Amino acid sequence: MNAIRTRFAPSPTGYLHVGGLRTALYAYLLAKKHGGQFLLRIEDTDQTRLVEGATENIIEALRWAGIDFDEGPGKGGPCGPYIQSHRLEIYMKHALELIAAGHAYHCFCSSERLDELRARQTANKLPPAYDKHCRNLSPAELEEKLATERKSVIRMKVPLEGEMTFSDLIRGPVTFGYKVVDDQVLIKSDGFPTYHLAVVIDDHYMKISHVIRGEEWLSSTPKHILLYEYFGWDAPQFAHLPLLLNSDRSKLSKRQGDVAVEDYRQKGYLPEALVNFIAFLGWNPGDTREFFTLEELIKEFSLACVGKAGAIFNLEKLDWLNGQYIQRMPTRELVSRIKPLIAARELPFKNDEYLEQVVELLKERVTVLPDFLTNGAYFFDAPTHYDTAIVAKAWQPDTAQYIKEMLNVFESIQSFDAVSLEHAMREYTKNKNITMGRLIQPLRLALSGVGQGPSLYHMMALFGKEETRNRCLEACRVMTL
Ligand code: GLU
Repeated sequence: MNAIRTRFAPSPTGYLHVGGLRTALYAYLLAKKHGGQFLLRIEDTDQTRLVEGATENIIEALRWAGIDFDEGPGKGGPCGPYIQSHRLEIYMKHALELIAAGHAYHCFCSSERLDELRARQTANKLPPAYDKHCRNLSPAELEEKLATERKSVIRMKVPLEGEMTFSDLIRGPVTFGYKVVDDQVLIKSDGFPTYHLAVVIDDHYMKISHVIRGEEWLSSTPKHILLYEYFGWDAPQFAHLPLLLNSDRSKLSKRQGDVAVEDYRQKGYLPEALVNFIAFLGWNPGDTREFFTLEELIKEFSLACVGKAGAIFNLEKLDWLNGQYIQRMPTRELVSRIKPLIAARELPFKNDEYLEQVVELLKERVTVLPDFLTNGAYFFDAPTHYDTAIVAKAWQPDTAQYIKEMLNVFESIQSFDAVSLEHAMREYTKNKNITMGRLIQPLRLALSGVGQGPSLYHMMALFGKEETRNRCLEACRVMTL
């Protein structure tokens, strides 16, 4: 195989969409699997849709996800510049070449005329398309219009008859009749190229071997292939990825949940888990394995295992996977990822060792990183209120008395560790002829304010004798108010 070069070519119109991350990931995986290069190209030819900071956001989201590009903005490379607005002359030069070769033409139609045309077509239930009004201007007409009209665009000439077939790496042979392919504008009246011209020229000069992109671009591909033919260039291979769907099989949309990679980052999903999850939106390894690092994905990925059917973005699956990643992650590593969150929330921070134990205790009960701080808020601050439902159920008139006696027993324990604490409680409740349950819930409540959490004995051991005592006495005080 020739050198594999793939690219991710987002338009800087906002954040990085999870669908964009999948496109980038698949393109990256294919290139890396074959020892090729992965490029980032910013497609900013639609000046009306630009969003300030969007390019930086996209680059940052890719960096966070671990998808490293070999060539692109800020990195450079032999085929730059990698931002389309910095390449305008290249597009114009090629558009003029197409005109000279009879494959493109100037169009002077006003936007009013085009609007009317579209309205008429819609009224007659016809698909909107340019009626090729300027395609056959005589040389004299053309000369006159060029001299007098202020505005014009350049359109490509699509054959009037026939059809074209190309082979998509995911969909197999795809055929389009030229009748449904419009005489696409290539250069707009502002002198900027449209996406269709720029993408072909750039993919050619950037030596892209495989164009991997969303299914929504499939119907544009005939125009692109025609342009390759007009220029006399070999077209790259194409792979159009299946749609991403909500669980009700509608197209994945903002209305039903988060679609920005940044949202998932903010919510505390691990990049490793998100990437693993995203990899499975259309691809699977053909067996039951579910956990893949980026390196493993590079090894295993193949476009042949990407399906045509829409892929459901199943948030529960992501939550489960993220929880699994947290459980499998070394405690130290988790601590280093949680520390910035603690700092951001200005929570009291004891030391790494304490945090390591908190992580150990909670690891199996969290979905996303901030859960350590919310589900486990009491590890950072004493509770300020107590779950009333649990109080009603577990706190009885004699509870405070038992707790105080229990605390006295704890005073005499040699080592304040989980095993000794459990042992002491067992002895005490046996002597008092009460069940362990009579004390476990109230103690948990006193320490954490809530009805569930990790092992009570381990919690007490971590808090230490003094803190355990303080929290218990405070609870006894509040309950008797
Ligand atoms: N700029 C296009 C987009 O935003 C890229 C499509 C392609 O990869 O060809 O999706």
